[in-house]
Amino acid sequence: MSIYIDTPIQYIKGVGPKLSEVFRKRGILTAGDLLHWYPRAYQDQRAANNISSLQVGQTVSVKGRVLRVSSVPMGKSTRRIHEVLIGDSSGRIPCKFFRTPYRGYFERFKVEQEVRVTGKLIEYRGIKQFQHPTIEMISGEEPEEDALIPLYTETDGLSPAKLKKIINTVIDQLIDHPEVENKERIVGVPDELPKWIKSTYDLLDRDKALKYIHQPLVDQAASYFNFEADSQKRLIFDEFFWLELHLAMKKAGYEKARTQPIVNDKKMLISQLLKKLPFTLTGAQERSLQEIYEDMKNPHPMHRLVQGDVGSGKTLVALLSALYVIEMGYQATIMAPTEILAEQHYQNAKKLLEPLGVQVALLTSQVKGKKREQICKYIQMGEFQLVVGTHALIQEDVIFNKLSLAIIDEQHRFGVEQRSLLKHKGDEPHFLVMTATPIPRTLAMTVYGDLDVSVIDELPQGRQPIVTRSVFENKRSKVFEFLGEQVAKGRQAYIVYPLVEESESMDLKNATAEYENIQKMYPNYKVGLLHGKLKSEEKDQIMRSFKRNEIQILVSTTVIEVGVDVPNANIMVIEHSERFGLSQLHQLRGRVGRGTHKSYCVLMLSYQSSQEARDRAQTMVQYLDGFKIAEADLEQRGPGEFLGRRQSGLAGFKLANLVRDMKILMQARKAAFELVSKDPFLQQNQHQSLKQQLELKYHHYVG
Ligand code: ADP
Ligand code: MG
Repeated sequence: MSIYIDTPIQYIKGVGPKLSEVFRKRGILTAGDLLHWYPRAYQDQRAANNISSLQVGQTVSVKGRVLRVSSVPMGKSTRRIHEVLIGDSSGRIPCKFFRTPYRGYFERFKVEQEVRVTGKLIEYRGIKQFQHPTIEMISGEEPEEDALIPLYTETDGLSPAKLKKIINTVIDQLIDHPEVENKERIVGVPDELPKWIKSTYDLLDRDKALKYIHQPLVDQAASYFNFEADSQKRLIFDEFFWLELHLAMKKAGYEKARTQPIVNDKKMLISQLLKKLPFTLTGAQERSLQEIYEDMKNPHPMHRLVQGDVGSGKTLVALLSALYVIEMGYQATIMAPTEILAEQHYQNAKKLLEPLGVQVALLTSQVKGKKREQICKYIQMGEFQLVVGTHALIQEDVIFNKLSLAIIDEQHRFGVEQRSLLKHKGDEPHFLVMTATPIPRTLAMTVYGDLDVSVIDELPQGRQPIVTRSVFENKRSKVFEFLGEQVAKGRQAYIVYPLVEESESMDLKNATAEYENIQKMYPNYKVGLLHGKLKSEEKDQIMRSFKRNEIQILVSTTVIEVGVDVPNANIMVIEHSERFGLSQLHQLRGRVGRGTHKSYCVLMLSYQSSQEARDRAQTMVQYLDGFKIAEADLEQRGPGEFLGRRQSGLAGFKLANLVRDMKILMQARKAAFELVSKDPFLQQNQHQSLKQQLELKYHHYVG
């Protein structure tokens, strides 16, 4: 019987009910799924390494005998570090495991058992070691032809030999000897990529790529290790290509839409506002604004992302963009993710724009009943020219008169639907999204690949670098002493805790209890407490008092995280900093260093904190630049963290790596955009299967 790409896995020779269950658990249901279960590494059997010759940083494969299997507790936690000690005549090397690959994994090893270890050799605290290597049992001689062999994620109930046999069967019948023709079924492996793209970018056919990723070519051994083999390149290209094609089509869609161009050459209100400011715009603010003004002159709606590090002055860019359209008789709106932030923008807008005769409204969930009705009425009449708010803005009863600019601040906090709802408050309004979560260039091209991007890569003058320290909890009293000194000098402070309520399982400091302690510690100052469980009115009240310096020390949970701007605050203490991710830490630190005072950020670490948490703290100490931190984060943990809800398109990467495969990403992007410019609606015959695939993958119906 022939095998097709959609042949259920249990019909493949050698796969019984038991094995098909093992596969099913890994999400492998068909022959095609199996081919897309890529090796996680390769092992070069020819390299006759001995342990003493191993070099740090190499991915290597070495033969040896098991000398000892042991485990020790990890810090004070209940987890254990397992170690398999391997030796040969030249030396010995530990293999460390911080988790158990599967139950019974370590019990398999017997002392004196001959094994082959493959992994990257690292040095940690002066000890050369492998961490989570692949360890295979060697029984008898290793066959000669297996000079370069693929390694798959270790799976209980599926031996490497068995897996290899099944994969080879599929490759033989689906790729090497596919059925020649069958009107009812798809034969072989479909390849939607147009020929011209394959030849321009020198790409293998898809079936060959799938074959050679599982049956590696020994003469390309070095390339396989670096993910640069032809087969890997083609499959990585594919992963990027589909995403980029989706984005290119989206972008083409924006450009097709029509809107009223807004040409404001005089910019009278803008000049008036600029004259009143106590500072001048930074070059980067200036540049971003020019890009925004130019976009709005077009007859199709702007879709632009303003990316700027925390404190780079994005609010002003938003307000000036709003003024640009307001002056021409239109309305603008700014949506922010939290009430604290919406309130802050509103106060700012009122202060700066009302003197110019601009009417500003605030809409949050706090504005209710009659008051809300009235505000909505005036929005609909066009009396309010700028409307600032939270999610409360996207409710049905909010109807604009002439909305031509929709701005979303801290856009990563919003979902796709919310963004789209705001956009639909106008008739193809210009659309500006802002984020203070810096994203490395590679990531921007994938996540925001449909948007034009302005980068504010310059901080206002006079800012001093924030001094960052990470300290263990035994230094807490010193830290609080220092904090007291700063407050005595007239500054204000933040103390941030990860949780509101004490949780039994995690012995975390509780912001509420700690607040009382801190108030006792500083009887001469007013301490405030801010957390998510407070009513909005209470939150606003506290924030306003903090802004007016009626509160000197603000104890808070992460509700303070985004956007809040109090330039007089110059010290931030983050308790249990091990509980926070890098981008969150960066956001938190961004609450200080906003004025001209020298600023400090202290990351408190508990003794139990993991090595990763300590590394994160170190990254924070080392870098102030959000882009650098984002890059470190991306390398350490992959793209998940800073993307918020926009990450859907990235979840599917199996092989591609945004850091390592930058070059391929650029090529895939170029190819996708080229394709869309040649055939904007994918109408050509040669692009039909591609169009279908795109619709399948992204539900992106091409009209
Ligand atoms: P973010 O980019 O994090 O949203 P904000 O817009 O809150 O930053 O601005 C941070 C602070 O910098 C605010 O107090 C703002 O008034 C001030 N600011 C903005 N632009 C400038 C500038 N060009 N020069 C000096 N200060 C500025
Ligand atoms: Mg902001």
